[in-house]
Amino acid sequence: MKDVPGTPPHEQLMVGITRLGQALRISSYRNTGPHRLSPLQADIIVLLAGDPRPRRLSELAVSLASTPPTISDAVKTLTAKGLVERRRDVSDARAVSLTLTQAGGAEAERLARLPAEFTEAMSALGQEDLAAMLRGMSSMIRSLQDQRAVPVTRMCLTCSHFRPRVHPDSDKPHHCAFVDNAFGDAELRLECPDHLAP
Ligand code: SF4
Repeated sequence: MKDVPGTPPHEQLMVGITRLGQALRISSYRNTGPHRLSPLQADIIVLLAGDPRPRRLSELAVSLASTPPTISDAVKTLTAKGLVERRRDVSDARAVSLTLTQAGGAEAERLARLPAEFTEAMSALGQEDLAAMLRGMSSMIRSLQDQRAVPVTRMCLTCSHFRPRVHPDSDKPHHCAFVDNAFGDAELRLECPDHLAP
């Protein structure tokens, strides 16, 4: 019997990540919804929904690894669609802050629902698989953030409330000081509104 040809696992992992990225892109082009959102417009709505504070254009550009003119064009379209509201920033009269309208909030709820094909694909994963994937993904994203290769996200691994592996329970070894509760790898957050930067 011949051996399986050896390929480094990290190369195979990159192939898998690329495939998942393709699936997500295809899904977001199909899931334009009633307002025919582009993927960037959808990203802006999701970002504004994840943090109730009014946000500036420049913050969105950094968070989405884009440029202010590109974000400005997308925001103009979202404003014309009645999904985003622009207001003068109370702390700086020259700046504009952005919030979702009620219709924008409804659109954010629609976007938060997992597309059917991903629900089906994830149903094949057990709790341990999910926990292992979240743990690996969190470590990779943290490293990419440290190298400034991706925008900073508000994840457990970079949160001042995070106490890793402080409990003896192997199912729930971590502690969140914000909610004062133990949790496991399957509950690691990659985006959390209560994140506290160090
Ligand atoms: S506040 Fe959020 S990001 Fe911070 S440790 Fe708790 S769950 Fe994680």
